[in-house]
Amino acid sequence: MAELNTDVRFLRGVGEQRAKLLAKLGVHNLRDLLEYFPRAYEDRSVTVPIAQAPFDQSVCIRATVSAPPLLSRVRRGMELVKLRAFDDTGSVDITFFNQNYVKNALHQGETYVFYGKIGGIPMRRTMSNPDYELERRAGAKTGRIMPRYRLCHGLSNTHMMGYVRECLNMTGTKVPDPLPKPVREKYALADIDFAYENIHFPADFPTLEAARHRLAFQEFFLLACALGAMRNSHHGGGIPVPHPDIEQFYASLSFEPTDAQRRAIDEALGDMALSCPMNRLVQGDVGSGKTLVAAACAWAAGQAGLQAAFMAPTEILAEQHMDTLTGFLSPFGMRVDKLTGSMTAKEKREVKARLSSGETALVVGTHALLTADVEFSRPALVITDEQHRFGVSQRGALSAKGESAHTLVMSATPIPRTLALMIYGDLDVSIIDELPPGRQKVDTFAVNESYRERLYGFMAKLVREGRQVFVVCPMVEENDELDYELKSAGEHAKELAARFPSLRVECVHGRMKSADKNAVMAAVVRGEVDILVSTTVIEVGVDVPNAALMVVENAERFGLSQLHQLRGRVGRGTHKSWCILVSDSRTEEARARLGAMCRTNNGFRISEEDLRLRGPGDFFGSRQHGLPDMHIAGLGGGMDVLKTAQTAAQELLHDDPELKKPEHSALSERVRALFAAKNDMLN
Ligand code: ADP
Ligand code: MG
Repeated sequence: MAELNTDVRFLRGVGEQRAKLLAKLGVHNLRDLLEYFPRAYEDRSVTVPIAQAPFDQSVCIRATVSAPPLLSRVRRGMELVKLRAFDDTGSVDITFFNQNYVKNALHQGETYVFYGKIGGIPMRRTMSNPDYELERRAGAKTGRIMPRYRLCHGLSNTHMMGYVRECLNMTGTKVPDPLPKPVREKYALADIDFAYENIHFPADFPTLEAARHRLAFQEFFLLACALGAMRNSHHGGGIPVPHPDIEQFYASLSFEPTDAQRRAIDEALGDMALSCPMNRLVQGDVGSGKTLVAAACAWAAGQAGLQAAFMAPTEILAEQHMDTLTGFLSPFGMRVDKLTGSMTAKEKREVKARLSSGETALVVGTHALLTADVEFSRPALVITDEQHRFGVSQRGALSAKGESAHTLVMSATPIPRTLALMIYGDLDVSIIDELPPGRQKVDTFAVNESYRERLYGFMAKLVREGRQVFVVCPMVEENDELDYELKSAGEHAKELAARFPSLRVECVHGRMKSADKNAVMAAVVRGEVDILVSTTVIEVGVDVPNAALMVVENAERFGLSQLHQLRGRVGRGTHKSWCILVSDSRTEEARARLGAMCRTNNGFRISEEDLRLRGPGDFFGSRQHGLPDMHIAGLGGGMDVLKTAQTAAQELLHDDPELKKPEHSALSERVRALFAAKNDMLN
């Protein structure tokens, strides 16, 4: 029997070439293949009489070929094979395009099962390019529920089916089941062999459902175990930071902290005063003033002669936070330094020297701060500004850096209460549920292309009034279908520049060098750009209080939480602000999403809606929360499955907190793999 980590090249028919294609789909070994779940299924299990075959639906018919197939050439490069086939109830005209071999493959008088879409009219039914099999040998492509896999050029569905089949035959009944037997019994779950077999080649729909349920349960269960085990493994002592007189800090501010900010700061300072390291998440909508909480904690550390590090997701943000935090701390004579990848070697050396001498109170940077050669003299606190993407894995990286550092993570992604416990299982959470005074609601409208002229007029008017405008376009990816009208940021910027020759239009996108990006962003912050067109890079946190309009092109391409993040980029000053979502999509899902955006500005409500629209699997799968992709996401495990799996995980962890028991070895191996995958994910 083959081990699950055996390379796919081990399978018959998978040579170098195919192995490369499979790798593109993320399939490297036998386990990947087993877990390459179909994206859909075709019901080819029932055969219908020709006369009763519904139009425009794919069905199987069992029919006999009435005359030898005829080959005809319509024009160069277009050849047809035509034949007629009949059963007791009627006949159907079948056409194959550019598949000349069919002429000799199908024979007069033989009966076949054809699977295809019925067209034509009741008097004359037709079918084009059906799949077919000899009736007496049917069972591979017809007469069953067929899995449909996500494919890439060069790999057909038949290839995938063949590989999976061979893989299942080979691994057979030997796959170690990550779900311990008592769990399977208690929750009436199918075992792993059954699940793998039937998720790919289900005997019938109830069987498929049983397989799917089991796999969705497993996915949630593994995640719950992973987070739970991580919580249980926290140990080590932190450096206690004496609780300072925080009013002194507040007195230096140019504004009054909100009650929610005071509460979060009290909670964090309370944690830091203990020798057990703080592990706190500050969750608050964009613009709720999370930076102040970070500043207060860094200030407290500085007051005690200790150091703090602040990690931002991008250089642009590191830059901005550097300025903000310097503003908060320099009045107290605390030195704030910046450490980012684009600095010269000399600059970096100087900062590192100040860090190790203890001169620097707070260092602001990107994740590069975690590299091995950065040494702190007395690191007490590590703050991570994850904005919308809150990664579980950073916590791993951090605890590796300094077991004893207090950690504070800031996230602008409100998580539905129903999921919070699971996702933040190992953290204490402070919620900032109040915006600073004077903020206005961002009015949101969803419009289609027919509003474009009015939209441009509105943009010009706002710029005349001295405001700035953000326009966000979706990232255009290589594999995007070409028939889809997508606006790329670059092209759209050119279009706008041509349209508004007197306005200053700039563009930033993900492929730009960070120095160039920084230069543009700095100009935006200084108010030297009227219209900034970008891909979602500005999604993360840039503060431009003068921006009063956010336009999102192809808004249907963005998730609800993402749209909410984008909207949070405006309305940060005192100006009345708007968010216009442009989309021509008529799908129900897109409409529901855009509708929700127009109805509410409340991030928590938005996230609840997002969860409701997508289901927990897909919600996680979007990666917005830094959680691993859910394989089963597309197959949709519901909230009830998630809850049951969580309960089961809690029961098991109660009995075996760090998954050390031998009977949990298959489980703990999968849990470890989950973390390894997560760490990769962030690079
Ligand atoms: P976020 O939670 O999105 O990180 P920030 O910390 O960037 O929010 O704060 C957004 C803006 O609000 C900043 O310009 C900040 O100076 C300002 N701000 C923060 N707290 C207050 C407050 N209590 N009163 C007035 N303005 C505040
Ligand atoms: Mg922020």
